[in-house]
Amino acid sequence: MSLIDTIIRADVRALAAYHVPDSAGFVKLDAMENPYTLPEHLRAELGKRLAEVAMNRYPVPSYSELKHKICTGLGVPAGYDVVLGNGSDELISMLSVACAKPGAKVLAPTPGFVMYAMSARFAGMEFVGVPLKADFSLDKPAMLAAIAEHKPAIVYLAYPNNPTGNLFDESDMVDIIRAAQDCGLVVVDEAYQPFAQASFMPRLPEFANLVVMRTVSKLGLAGIRLGYMSAASELLVELDKVRPPYNVNVLTQAAAEFVLDHVDVLDAQAASLREERARLSVALSVLPGIEVFPSAANFLLVRINHEKVNGNDVFSALLDRKVLIKNVGKMHPLLENCLRITVSTAEENRLLLDAVMASLAP
Ligand code: PMP
Repeated sequence: MSLIDTIIRADVRALAAYHVPDSAGFVKLDAMENPYTLPEHLRAELGKRLAEVAMNRYPVPSYSELKHKICTGLGVPAGYDVVLGNGSDELISMLSVACAKPGAKVLAPTPGFVMYAMSARFAGMEFVGVPLKADFSLDKPAMLAAIAEHKPAIVYLAYPNNPTGNLFDESDMVDIIRAAQDCGLVVVDEAYQPFAQASFMPRLPEFANLVVMRTVSKLGLAGIRLGYMSAASELLVELDKVRPPYNVNVLTQAAAEFVLDHVDVLDAQAASLREERARLSVALSVLPGIEVFPSAANFLLVRINHEKVNGNDVFSALLDRKVLIKNVGKMHPLLENCLRITVSTAEENRLLLDAVMASLAP
């Protein structure tokens, strides 16, 4: 046995690393980033603020100023606090660590965000995936049966869902939260909330087992890595215990505090992306051989139903034209021939459309 085989867990050795493709020189429409930057005058002011940050000091671990700005500026109900993460990816890891009792399970509809399953496995928990219906809505009877059978410690519901882009039915979600109330947490992942304008945040007081998780990534700050989650205070106190004490660094802290004073700029960018989404959706759906699914997020899921080309062909043709999207066709049987496209600026959406049109007329 090699040293690696002796030391590293077999299930970890069997994993494929999270793959991020090299995107240099591409129109980058694969990762749901906001294409807009801050206006010049705000960037200049931010530069000055960052220059004043004491990088020789650890962050003050209470993060009280940043938390206050998040709670007041981003719709957390009065009286509720947040736990901060280095992106919501870290919050997902923290949830796993906090709940990974022997035999504990994590459940989520599939296809869904890959980190739910990966993080569960890292923490030694079994992941139970419950397939969505063909129209990507929740299969409520199957979800309720799986909750009764597996008694999951965590149920994830992404609202809207990635990679399908749709919002699940609110009353189905409520029934799932209630069904899980004696066995587990239900984490409503609102990563795409700025584009959906629907949220479970106001409903936190109704459910003791509800956690609402958000990120500033899709709002335009993917690079600074900041996520937050809110829940009833007794629960939040426990989740905060597994947070590494200085997990949000001083530069992120300063940048987020600054940008949250100008949140109207990000709101306007999100509004513009919602308009672009509507335009792009119409423009793609009139093309022959493409089905565009309804989206409440900043991306569109499309299916290639063309007599001459399939999803892989379109994906490769776009790569040849230096347009990078995400090929999700192999991720789940429900996603055969599906591609996920981030909504971008009018100009980049035009480049995307031209590339798709060319790929459909090979
Ligand atoms: N949740 C969902 C549903 C996502 O799609 C993503 C990012 N793709 C995340 C969470 C992770 O976000 P963050 O950048 O905050 O780690």
